Amino acid sequence: MQEKIELLKSINTDNSRFVLKILEAFEKNKINLKNKENNSSIITNCIDSLDKKNVINLDKIWSKPYFYTTMRLKFNEIIEKFSNISYEVISKNPKKFCNDIVKTKVTKDFNKPNDCIDIVEFIQNLNSSNDYVFFAKEKDEETLFKEDQIKKAIHIIKIKDKKEQFSYIYDEIYNYLDEDFISNKYCDFINDKCIAQRHLVLYPMNRKDGCCFMQIRKCNHLHEHGVCDVKCLACRLFSCPYLSKKGVGYWASDFVLLKAFLNKNQRKQLIFDFYKDKDSVLEKVLHK
Ligand code: SF4
Ligand code: SF4
Repeated sequence: MQEKIELLKSINTDNSRFVLKILEAFEKNKINLKNKENNSSIITNCIDSLDKKNVINLDKIWSKPYFYTTMRLKFNEIIEKFSNISYEVISKNPKKFCNDIVKTKVTKDFNKPNDCIDIVEFIQNLNSSNDYVFFAKEKDEETLFKEDQIKKAIHIIKIKDKKEQFSYIYDEIYNYLDEDFISNKYCDFINDKCIAQRHLVLYPMNRKDGCCFMQIRKCNHLHEHGVCDVKCLACRLFSCPYLSKKGVGYWASDFVLLKAFLNKNQRKQLIFDFYKDKDSVLEKVLHK
């Protein structure tokens, strides 16, 4: 594996760097998963001996469309292709391999089994007053995801003030995107130009600083070295046509907590209110 990684580093093309970023993100995710596993309270046996009223059987909760986002499916496929190819084959033409692999197409097609409940519906009917016990036959990544989302939902239900509730959800999604999108550096800035700008695609219109612009001016919140002084969720969720084409993209409907606690108009406000600070966005969300 390491030999193949070194090969990608040595060719240093836009697409080889993109594949390397996906591989790095995958490794980082493995560490996060270990931490989640250690902090999990899921029990995997003896469901019969438990008071069934308080047991949340995670195996009966459906979360596939939220867990397997199109981006995750595509990246999983790329990782699998990269893992399965031999060094001998890839070394014949690593550039072409990377160009082909980033074009991987995936389809998202899941059918909910009749005896399962969608996680969003489950959360919307959740009662926060019970001390729940989480059960699953196996403690895998998807089960840990369900536990994490439901525990956060219980915490949100316990917050009585609506604005505080929204603020918690806002921070959750924003921090997730910071970790998943920003820290993995898919925008691939070199000398203040992002990958889309280096390819001179029509969007964005400015020549540097990525998409942090307002119509034709630089955004007022942008400072030296790409530092932004506000926490704008719409900006974080945004992914330009260049990156979307490569499979990097986030949709509000992918986020369980957004779907469970915000109505359509509120979600719309969050997604499209660019260049704004958190407080002003939340104020508008509250009145939707
Ligand atoms: S989202 Fe696209 S346009 Fe914006 S900074 Fe990233 S690569 Fe550039
Ligand atoms: S508010 Fe948005 S556009 Fe402005 S600097 Fe921050 S991230 Fe960039």
